[in-house]
Amino acid sequence: MIIPRNIIPQLNCISIHKNQIMICVKKLFSLTDNKFYFDETTILSQNKIIDIENKDYTDKRIALYNKDFNNNEYITIKGYKIDPDVELIIPYYECTSFLCSKCKKLHNGKSNKCCSLSSSPILIKQYKIKKIVFPDKNSIEEELAKAKKDFIDLHFPDFLDRIMI
Ligand SMILES: [Zn+2]
Repeated sequence: MIIPRNIIPQLNCISIHKNQIMICVKKLFSLTDNKFYFDETTILSQNKIIDIENKDYTDKRIALYNKDFNNNEYITIKGYKIDPDVELIIPYYECTSFLCSKCKKLHNGKSNKCCSLSSSPILIKQYKIKKIVFPDKNSIEEELAKAKKDFIDLHFPDFLDRIMI
């Protein structure tokens, strides 16, 4: 049976059914546009309430989680309206462990940066999704870079930030 593409979305893509949105948030061995990927050991912790950012406006929504037989994972959000031409999302990850594939270095919250991480593929081991952004079509590249920077800043706060806390 051929599954129509508009029903099962690809990684970081969405499908819309009536008033609900389905998003693929984990697809094994697919690299996201800002170079994150997942394997069969990746664990997604289900964060029930997720921030959704759309056109500079952020609100909180309940996320329902589903898995398919290939261990890909999806989030469904009910009662959320977006422009029909929006096709992809940019997730913001919070990880308890991840691997820099360039340096083969595992990070678990206590390690130092192995490289700039901005262009290295990052294998996510254990994570939750803290925010989902519906980017404007004209600023996708900027939004992807912003999400990567947020990830690096979140997991490697610099020394000055630590003093401030
Ligand atoms: Zn590295």
